[in-house]
Amino acid sequence: MCGECCYGEGGIFLEPGEIEGIARFLEMTRDEYISGFCEKRHGRVELKTGPDGFCIFFDPKKSCLIHPVKPGRCSLWPFCPAIVNDKENWELAKDACPGINPDCSFDEFVRQFKE
Ligand code: SF4
Ligand code: SF4
Repeated sequence: MCGECCYGEGGIFLEPGEIEGIARFLEMTRDEYISGFCEKRHGRVELKTGPDGFCIFFDPKKSCLIHPVKPGRCSLWPFCPAIVNDKENWELAKDACPGINPDCSFDEFVRQFKE
C-alpha cells in the first residue's frame, strides 16, 4: 500500500487481456484507455508515468486506483523476476519495500516465491 513499487518510469507492461479488463473497469473503450493512460515502448503497451514520477494510477491517499484489475506485474511485487533472480536487486528492493521482512534471507525469499 505504500506505493514505493509504483514509482519510476516504465516497466509496467500489460498483457492483452489486462488491457481489456482495465478499460472495462474504467468504463472506457480499449482505444480511449490506451490513448489516455498507456504508451507503447519496445513493442509493448506500458502504463504511463504521471508528472510526480509515480504510475498514473497511483493516488497518495487511495493507493492504486485500479487495484481490482491491476496488471499481473503489479500483483507479483515484490516477487518479480528481476528481484527473484538477482540478489543485488533483492537487496535494493528490501531497502525500499516495507513488505519484505528485513530479517529474511535471499534463499528464503526465493523459496517463498516458488511456493
Ligand atoms: S497499476 Fe496500481 S499497483 Fe500498478 S504501478 Fe500503477 S498504481 Fe501501482
Ligand atoms: S509491494 Fe512493497 S513497495 Fe509495493 S506497495 Fe507493497 S509494501 Fe510498498
